[in-house]
Amino acid sequence: MVPSEAPATGLPSADRALAEGLLAGQRRALAKAITLIESTRPDHQARAQELLNALLPHTGKAIRVGISGVPGAGKSTFIEALGTWLIDHGHRVAVLAVDPSSTVSGGSILGDKTRMETLCQREAAFIRPSPSAGSLGGVAEKTREAMLLCEAAGFDVIIVETVGVGQSEITVAGMVDCFCLLQLPNAGDDLQAIKKGIVEIADVVVINKADIDPRATAVTCAQWKNALHWLRPPSPLWHPPVMAASALNKQGIAEFWQTVKRHRDALAPGGELDAKRRHQARAWMEELLDSGLRRFFRYHPAVREQLSVLTEAVEAGRTTPAAAARELLECLRR
Ligand code: GDP
Repeated sequence: MVPSEAPATGLPSADRALAEGLLAGQRRALAKAITLIESTRPDHQARAQELLNALLPHTGKAIRVGISGVPGAGKSTFIEALGTWLIDHGHRVAVLAVDPSSTVSGGSILGDKTRMETLCQREAAFIRPSPSAGSLGGVAEKTREAMLLCEAAGFDVIIVETVGVGQSEITVAGMVDCFCLLQLPNAGDDLQAIKKGIVEIADVVVINKADIDPRATAVTCAQWKNALHWLRPPSPLWHPPVMAASALNKQGIAEFWQTVKRHRDALAPGGELDAKRRHQARAWMEELLDSGLRRFFRYHPAVREQLSVLTEAVEAGRTTPAAAARELLECLRR
């Protein structure tokens, strides 16, 4: 359903038209608004924040799902199959990505146009590559804001894709309702994921490419179930299930969605889902404060003067890191 109420007034007329187009579900307006939030120009950033504030009452209604997995696990094939299935069942689906490596490679996990070809062509789909905003924090911040814009534009399912290579998974788990690990049927993978501390944040584990070797898939499923059995579940109300799928053959897609819905149903009655979102919003604000303070600190003229001198002194062993840090913080107070 596309929201129809007018956005809060007070926006300049160009941005009011943008907000209206976005609320009417126009993908062009949505794409333009995301470009605005991704811009690093201070005037664009100010406009983007006004726009987001005006649209905030229209956000929060989507089901937010994170999909993570190593390159080649089948994420885009899975998202294409899931997205198409959801659209066939009356949903509007937005796909976003968090890939900090895109700034290094110049591309991004959703940048390649040949990916998700079928989904791209659907009117009820919106696909946006990872922003190339620099650090993981920067990429994540833009993706969170893009997610809110997609919700205001009436997309009722938001899928956030990320590569399973570390911190970006934890970041994405911190912005979605249901976080899914896409794994390959290889013995040994489970231990790696446990070591990285990723398993604890998984709400659902999917062993993809089950068509290639059903026996290996069954073994991997059993290993995962066993591994999850010994860990504290992400919520006392939900024990993460392990399921097999073949994204290529579109098998396990409907079951996956049923699982996402079951997860919601399990967390909703006691208000745990709301609490999760409140916690995520607070953590997001704190993260922005931390990064803002860090920027403020580094660009402060008194600090800049001393920073390189003291860094050199620490490296040369002339002063301790603690003493140098204290002195730099003192620069701010003076
Ligand atoms: P991503 O890097 O995680 O996004 O992985 P892709 O979706 O690009 O898939 C990598 C390769 O695995 C592609 O050649 C896909 O066709 C293939 N693939 C994805 N899912 C399946 C599956 O369920 N079964 C099989 N046999 N191949 C798959």
